[in-house]
Amino acid sequence: MSSRDSRDRELGMGRKITRRDFLNGVSLAVGSSMLASSAGQIFALDGPESAYQPEKNPKYYPPALMGMRGNHDGTFTYAHKLRDGDFWNDAAKPEDTGEKYDLVVVGGGISGLAAAYFFRQQAGPKSRILILDNHDDFGGHAKRNEFRVGNRLLLSNGGTQSIENPSDYSDVSKRLLKDLGIETQRFYKDYDQKLYAELKTACFFDHETFGEDRLVPGMGSTPWPELVKQTPLSEVARRDIVRLYTAKTDYLAGLSREEKRARLAKISYADFLTKVCAAHPDVLPFFQTYTHDLWAVGIDGISALACYENPDDYHAMSYAGFDGLGLGEVEEEEPYIFHFPDGNASIARLLVRSLVPGSISGQTMEDVVTARCDYGRLDNAGAAVRIRLNTTAVRARHAGPTESAKEVEVAYMRGDKLLSAKGTICVLACYNMMIPYLCPELPEPQKDALHLGVKEPFIYTHVALQNWTPFHKLGIQQIVSPGSYHCLTKLDFPVSIGEYQFPSKPEEPMVLFMLRTPCKPRLPRRDQYRLGRYELMTTPFPTFERNIRDQLQRMLGPAGFDSARDIAGITVNRWAHGYAYEYNSLSDPDLPLEQRPYVIGRKQFGRISIANSDAAASAYSNAAIDQAYRAIQEQIKNA
Ligand SMILES: Cc1cc2nc3c(=O)[nH]c(=O)nc-3n(C[C@H](O)[C@H](O)[C@H](O)COP(=O)(O)OP(=O)(O)OC[C@H]3O[C@@H](n4cnc5c(N)ncnc54)[C@H](O)[C@@H]3O)c2cc1C
Repeated sequence: MSSRDSRDRELGMGRKITRRDFLNGVSLAVGSSMLASSAGQIFALDGPESAYQPEKNPKYYPPALMGMRGNHDGTFTYAHKLRDGDFWNDAAKPEDTGEKYDLVVVGGGISGLAAAYFFRQQAGPKSRILILDNHDDFGGHAKRNEFRVGNRLLLSNGGTQSIENPSDYSDVSKRLLKDLGIETQRFYKDYDQKLYAELKTACFFDHETFGEDRLVPGMGSTPWPELVKQTPLSEVARRDIVRLYTAKTDYLAGLSREEKRARLAKISYADFLTKVCAAHPDVLPFFQTYTHDLWAVGIDGISALACYENPDDYHAMSYAGFDGLGLGEVEEEEPYIFHFPDGNASIARLLVRSLVPGSISGQTMEDVVTARCDYGRLDNAGAAVRIRLNTTAVRARHAGPTESAKEVEVAYMRGDKLLSAKGTICVLACYNMMIPYLCPELPEPQKDALHLGVKEPFIYTHVALQNWTPFHKLGIQQIVSPGSYHCLTKLDFPVSIGEYQFPSKPEEPMVLFMLRTPCKPRLPRRDQYRLGRYELMTTPFPTFERNIRDQLQRMLGPAGFDSARDIAGITVNRWAHGYAYEYNSLSDPDLPLEQRPYVIGRKQFGRISIANSDAAASAYSNAAIDQAYRAIQEQIKNA
C-alpha cells in the first residue's frame, strides 16, 4: 500500500459517508439527463413522463444532497456550449410549448424571485409568470444545505450567508423583507451572542507555508507581543507584526487626510505593508488571506483603502498599520447576527412560499425554517406562477423588431429538449455576463460592458461533525489558516428559530463552515477570478474531501479530533460564478456612474430588462432585490 493510500485510510477517505447518509441511502435520478454530483450522487426517476419532470418525484429533495453542490454538474453544460459557439446549428429549432406568460424571468435567485414578486404586486395576483433556473434548486446563491446526523437536522447556508446591515437597505428592500414577514430585530433574541463569547480565534500555521504545523489560539485577543512568540514565524516577521499592530506610527506623515486616502486607494494592502510601512516581506504570508472572505483575492489584489474601510473584526482579522494615520473613525456596522439557519435561503423560500401557494407550508419567518419545500408543486400547469428548475435559457429574443414586438420568445434546454415559451416582457436576472450570449442582438457597447463583469469564485464547504468537543477543549470557535487549502474554519452561527434549535452543547452534532478562495496571487484581479474558476471546475470532489479531512486532522487532531470517526457529512458548495464583480480603486478606473460598465450593461432592451446583483456590481442580497425592482419598474413604465 502506498503512503498516500494509508494516509487516506487514516483520514477516512474510504468511508462512504457522503454516499451513505445521502438522502438516507435513497438515490434519485433525472430520466435521460443525469444530474450527478462528483460525489456520485445521482437523481433517478422512474415512469415514462418523468423524463422532463424530475421535480415531480416525491423523493426529489436537493437541499439534502451532499458532495459537490453550488454550481453543480449539469448546470453549465449548455451555457458553456453557448459561450463557445457550439450550441446553435442549422438544425437547432426550439419546439414551441405554446405557453404564454405576462412575464418570463431567467434566473431563480433572490433577484429573479423578487422580480416576480414585484411584478405580481403591481400587475395583480392573476399575472402569469414563468421563472427558469438551471439549478436543481431555487435561490441562486441563496441555497439551503441540510444534514442529518443521527436524528438531528442541521441546516446551513450553501451560499448567501446573512442579511448584512439591514438598516442600510433601501426602502424597497426593507419593505420586501417586511412583506415576507422578516423582522430583523428578532435576531437579537434568536442569535445567541453569548454562546461563543468565551471562545477565541486561533491561527493555524501549516508546515508547507510556515515550516511546521502549529495551532495558536488567541488571535485578536492575546496581546500581539505574546501571541507572535507562540508562532513559527521568523524573528523579523514577529517584530514587524507587533510593530504594525501596536505602534501608532503615521506612515504617511506630511500628507493631508485626503491625500492619504488617495494614496491608499492606489496601493495594494500588501504593498502598503512592505513599501509604506517598511515591513519585511516575511509578514505577507500571515496577512495574505485577510481579504479572501470579502473580495475573493488576497491582499495583493485589494487597495489598502478598501481594507481600512472594511475591518474584519468579526474574524479577528483587523488590518494592521492604519492606527497612526489619523484617517478618522470607520463607520460602525450593525452586528453580524441577521442570519437564518440556512442563511438567505430563507428569503428565497419566503418568496417561493408567497409566489407558489402550497409549495412551502406555514406563514411566518419562524416556521419557514423547518418547513419542507414540495418541489413537485413548483411548476404546475394552470398555476399563476411556475418555477421551472433544471432548465437553462439559451436565448431571449423579441418576436419581431425590438421597437414594435409584442412578445419575447425565450428558448431553453430542459433535459435534452430545446423548447420555447413566450412572455409579454422578460427579465434576465441571471449572471449578467451570460446575457450577450442570450441576446446577441444587444448593442455591441452593451455586450462589451456586460463581458467585463467577471464573477468572483468561492467555495463554501460545510462539514457535519458528530460533535464539537475539540473546539470546546481548545477554547476556540474559529481558525484562520492563511496557508491551508481552506483559509477559514468556523463553528456555525448560533441561531435558534422556531422549532430549529442550534447545537449549543459541545457533545451535539455541529456544522463547520470552511472557506476556500481559489485565487492566483499577483495576477490582475479579473485573471485571478478566471483562473480560480478554472481550478474549481476541474477539481474533483475526492480532492476536496482529502484536503478537508487532512486539514481538519492537522488542526484539531491534537485536541482529540479524528477525521475518519468524527466527520458525518461533507457538502462542497462550488460557486464558480460567485460574487458579483465589485469595483475596486486599485484595478478599476473611477468612472462617473453612467459610464460604469454595469450601468451600461443593464440598460433596458425593448421588452427585456436586466436584473441580478451583477447589475449593481454589488454582491449583496439587497442589491439583487433593488435591481429586480428597477427592472420591473422599467417595464411597467413603458407598458
Ligand atoms: C458564497 C456566497 C456568499 C454570499 N454571502 C452573502 C451574504 O452573506 N449576504 C449578502 O447580502 N449577499 C451575499 N452573497 C451575494 C449574493 O450573490 C446575493 O446576495 C444574491 O443572492 C444574488 O442574487 P441574484 O438573484 O442576483 O443572483 P444569483 O443568486 O446568482 O441567481 C441567479 C440565478 O440565475 C441562474 N442562471 C444563470 N444563467 C441562467 C440561464 N441561462 N438560464 C437559467 N438560469 C440561469 C443562476 O444559475 C442562478 O441560479 C453571497 C454570494 C456568494 C456566492
